[in-house]
Amino acid sequence: MQKRAFVLIFICLLLAGCGKRPDETPHRRTVFAMDTVMNLTVYGENGDKALDAAEQDLRRLDALLARGAETSAVHTLNQYGFAEDEETAALLEKAGEISAATGGAFDATLGKVLDLWGFGSGAGDYRVPPDAELDAALAAVGMERVFVDGEEIRLAAFTEVDLGGIVKGYACERMFDRMKENGVVTAVFDLGGDVALWGGKSDGPWRVAIKDPADEGAFLGILETDGGRFIMTSGVYERYFEENGARYHHILDPKTGRPADSDLVSATVVCQNGIWADALATACCVVGADGALALRERLADTMPFDLILITDDARALYTCEGFAPETNNGYAYEKVA
Ligand code: ADP
Ligand code: MG
Repeated sequence: MQKRAFVLIFICLLLAGCGKRPDETPHRRTVFAMDTVMNLTVYGENGDKALDAAEQDLRRLDALLARGAETSAVHTLNQYGFAEDEETAALLEKAGEISAATGGAFDATLGKVLDLWGFGSGAGDYRVPPDAELDAALAAVGMERVFVDGEEIRLAAFTEVDLGGIVKGYACERMFDRMKENGVVTAVFDLGGDVALWGGKSDGPWRVAIKDPADEGAFLGILETDGGRFIMTSGVYERYFEENGARYHHILDPKTGRPADSDLVSATVVCQNGIWADALATACCVVGADGALALRERLADTMPFDLILITDDARALYTCEGFAPETNNGYAYEKVA
């Protein structure tokens, strides 16, 4: 009885705390950027203004960070081994940190190797590269080959940077800044399955459907979570080609230069930091289920995050408290501490 009274009071406080906002009309916009269809929804009176600012940021970051765009700092950097840009420099420093934390599973210097497979800037010309070519390109991989000094970036000879595993998380963080500047209380960004939740909702926690990697229209379960979270998924099914009956996907193991050969089909990371969420999802696909769980434990104090992992034998391992699995879809669910 006492417990129930407590719960009721708690709920009332929550409602009082959120209140009802004067205008909760959703303002929606679809933007195509970073090779992704993005659906942005912003609630409240400043919605349209905030959406303009968010869209502008997406376009700006696409032009700045896309390897294929000749205007981009990354293109210049890869072409000349030198570039000057504060934002790119900061992002590469962050990438270095994440690379170290993941034991090299995340690596932003895979540019040349990705190109060899056809997953690079001029994507589409897929092929399995000969070993000799791979070995040569692998020799130029490693974050220790990136030198950042203030806003100056230098690359060791032959090294090329690719920020594809991190740009969407970064873009979401910048869009959060735009929400803050415009006094937006509630917003949700869906970047082709990667989701960023800004602020709270007046009618309870966010409920996010996590997609089933094996079935476009189905989902793995519902995640109930607070705002200020990034829910980023990487999957080996997202981009791939087939040759002689074998399948080759776009998440590479920096140690081999080949598509990661782990037991994971997809990894979803829930984290309060967008860059880390994005990069960790990629890294988890490289290190596999055990590696991902160990990584989570290792980073528990510095960068806490939750995981939903799908293995190639249809197990669904999850660490999130607020995750309600969907039933009868063939997955064996297992809550992991
Ligand atoms: P998506 O962009 O398809 O949602 P990811 O966030 O996992 O998926 O990013 C995959 C991209 O990251 C690849 O297309 C490539 O540009 C880059 N990439 C591939 N393997 C790695 C890796 N081990 N570390 C860092 N970046 C990678
Ligand atoms: Mg990623």
